[in-house]
Amino acid sequence: MNKPAFVKEIAKIRNKSKSLRAPHFRVISWIEGSPLPNGGRGTSLTFILPTRACRFAEAEHGGCSMCGYPNENPPDPPLKLIETLPEITMEHFMKKKVEGPMVIKFFTSGSFLDRLELPPHIREKMISQFAQLEQIKEIIIESRAEYVIKKNIESLLKVAPAEKITIAIGLESADDEINKRSVNKGMTWKQFKRAVELARSYGIRIKAYILLKPIFLTEYLSIHDAILSAEKAIEIGVETISINSSNIQKGTLMEKMFNLKRYRSPWLWSSLIVTKKIKQRHPEIRVITDPVAAGLIRGAHNCGKCDKMVKNALSEFSYTQDLSYLENITCDCYERYLSFLIADIMGSGLGFIFEDYELSKKNLPKQ
Ligand SMILES: [Zn+2]
Repeated sequence: MNKPAFVKEIAKIRNKSKSLRAPHFRVISWIEGSPLPNGGRGTSLTFILPTRACRFAEAEHGGCSMCGYPNENPPDPPLKLIETLPEITMEHFMKKKVEGPMVIKFFTSGSFLDRLELPPHIREKMISQFAQLEQIKEIIIESRAEYVIKKNIESLLKVAPAEKITIAIGLESADDEINKRSVNKGMTWKQFKRAVELARSYGIRIKAYILLKPIFLTEYLSIHDAILSAEKAIEIGVETISINSSNIQKGTLMEKMFNLKRYRSPWLWSSLIVTKKIKQRHPEIRVITDPVAAGLIRGAHNCGKCDKMVKNALSEFSYTQDLSYLENITCDCYERYLSFLIADIMGSGLGFIFEDYELSKKNLPKQ
C-alpha cells in the first residue's frame, strides 16, 4: 500500500535527525507542585529515564509528526545502566527530602511498559519501592496504548495497589482522521478505548494527553478537536486530562512546516479556553495544562506582553484545580486573537458556533 506523502516526509526527517542526536545517559529529575488523585495538593517528583527511544518513533514510518523526543534517548543504553535505575531513582528521591503527600512520575519519552525499554523485573522493582511508601499517593507512568495489556497490568499490580497507579496515554485526538493524517499516531480511537477499559477494569486510573494544534489544523479546529477529544475520553472513564499545547521540537515535520512558515504553535488563549471549558463541564476531572516553551516562538504564545501572566495562571490552575485563576485575564491582544479566530472560521466555511466557546463579543474580557 502506498504511504501518504506526509508519512514518507516524516520518515525522511526522522532518519536525517539521527545524525543530530545528542542523547543523555543520565536520570533527570525535578520536583513541582501537583494535584493529588483524590483532591488536595502535593508535590510531584518527575523522572526522565534514559531508556532506548520510543519503538514507534524508531519504526520505518518515522512516528508522530510533532515528536522529537527520540533525539534525546540513547539508541542502545547498556543493560548495566538500565539495571541500576531502581537504585538511582531511589537516591534522587532521598536527596530531595520532600515532606507530605507525593506523586512519582516515570517518563521514558517512550513507553514504560515496553519490555524493550525496561525489562519487567526492573520496572516492577522501581514501582514496588515507591508504592510501599505511605507518602507516595500516586505513581504515573506513560505508555502507548498497545502495551496496556493484561500481562503488563498484572505485573504492575503484583507490586502496587491499583489506586496508586495512573497510566498516561497519548490520545492526541479522538478523531481517527486527525491521528492518521496529521499526527501519524498509529493508534485508533478503538485501540485507545480498549486500553482505557482494560486498565479501568482493574481500578487503574488513566490520564490522557491531548494535543492542542496538530499540524494541518487551524487554530479554531484545534480548539474544537481538543474539547471534543476530552469529552470522549472522559466519557469512557479517563480521570485526568492533560492538554499538551504543541511545541516545535527538532527533527520533526512540525518543525519543517514551522521553518516554511506554514505552522504557528497555538495561542496561549487557546490553551486557556480549552482548559477552562473542560474543567467547567467536568469539575471532578483533573485538568492539567503546562505548555512547554510557553511564551516562546516554538511554544504556545500570545503577544509577548501577556504570555508570562497567562502561563502562570495556567500553572496555578493546574496545581490547585481552582478555576478562579483563569478568570479576568486580559490583554490587548485578545481582540486580535479573536479576529484571527473569526477569519479562521470564515475561511474554513465552518460558520459561527461561538457560543460554544465563550468567544462572543459579549464575553470579551473588559479592558
Ligand atoms: Zn497579549
